[in-house]
Amino acid sequence: MTVEADDRDPPPDGREGSWLACVECGTTFPPFAAVRYRCDECSGLLEVRYADPPTFEDFRGRGRGVWRYAPALPLESGVSLPEGDTPLHRVPDIREELDLRALRVKHEGMNPTGSFKDRGMTVGVAVARRVGVDRLACASTGNTSAALAAYGARANMETLVLLPAGKVAAGKVAQAALHGARILEVDGNFDTCLDVVDDLATRGEAYLLNSLNPFRLEGQKTIGLEILESFREEYGTVPDRIVLPVGNAGNTAALYKCFRELAAAGALDPDDVPTLTGVQAEGAAPFVEAVEAAADEVRRWPEVETRATAIRIGNPVNAPKALPGIYETGGTAVAVSDEEITAAQRSLAAEGVGVEPASAASVAGLRRLREDGVVGADERVVCLTTGHLLKDPDAAAAAGADTEPVPGTTEGVLDHLKG
Ligand SMILES: *Cc1c(COP(=O)(O)O)cnc(C)c1O
Ligand SMILES: [Zn+2]
Repeated sequence: MTVEADDRDPPPDGREGSWLACVECGTTFPPFAAVRYRCDECSGLLEVRYADPPTFEDFRGRGRGVWRYAPALPLESGVSLPEGDTPLHRVPDIREELDLRALRVKHEGMNPTGSFKDRGMTVGVAVARRVGVDRLACASTGNTSAALAAYGARANMETLVLLPAGKVAAGKVAQAALHGARILEVDGNFDTCLDVVDDLATRGEAYLLNSLNPFRLEGQKTIGLEILESFREEYGTVPDRIVLPVGNAGNTAALYKCFRELAAAGALDPDDVPTLTGVQAEGAAPFVEAVEAAADEVRRWPEVETRATAIRIGNPVNAPKALPGIYETGGTAVAVSDEEITAAQRSLAAEGVGVEPASAASVAGLRRLREDGVVGADERVVCLTTGHLLKDPDAAAAAGADTEPVPGTTEGVLDHLKG
């Protein structure tokens, strides 16, 4: 009996009527003709644009998950594990405590490698196959590397990840290692790792899959599409506000792009666009600093520290795309302490929702803004929880209850329970 030597899908077709455009000067480029991360003219960030953005009708009958939304993506199909279709949990205790009209938690930790990064990688790694590169690379605070390692393995491509030495949660390093990425532990913080990998990519040594890569953000747009579709189904309307943790601000940029495209297609009333609200940790809050100053640029913080390692980032590279998203939706940004983050992690866990510290920042931020009266009781809010509890077992154990040593007998256990 003969077996097909290679049953992987061929590289996917690109969508007609899509191109790359510079967000600063508007210069356009064909999407797959060459590897390009920035504008040739002014080095501005690039984004994917479509001649004909889809409406919700175009997604009907297309199944669930990221590729349901293929009409909104630059490719017809991707390297898929599959990803997306994450739960929109009810959290009645937190809703009641915060006295909100509605509160839902979109748990992105339920993606195949345990974070929303999978939504970007299913598109980004497919584009890498389409343009014909042979080595993938990223800098990472952990989750990007776990996702890239898995999707790179799925696509059978060499994968390189650069991590800040000693600053990545255990679950994430283990994932990258087992999926077969080469892990380079860099003597420096995340921002240093990104500078280096950006340089490697510019020199043609590897294909860059950080959120500077405009194709990754296309996949992440589907978080917004899922939220709006589910919300409309259940409440007959869209949420008033979406609260999310901010690291490189890629997700903030992706959600804003999602809403803009829907508005352009006539599928979302511009007055109904949810208010985007970003949350950072106090020790790593350059984006919040910029929003508080109503600035259109972010000042890089050379030193950053927080136990929410996924957002331990001092130079949010997608700020030029994300700041307009905050301003134009009437949103805001807020910084919370590590203690507030851990308290929110416990509140979510008490409702059965297990998240890593960075994810809990969204709920911590909402709690703060509700106390300050910035968020009103009449609002319907969605908090994004970006990564799974098991990503950072040390943080979970530290935030949770202590173990209780007991003897190995039933009587001994009963005595102990009686206290
Ligand atoms: C990557 C990541 C973030 C930050 O997202 P950005 O798009 O970079 O702002 C937040 N939380 C978790 C768990 C992440 O993995
Ligand atoms: Zn430009």
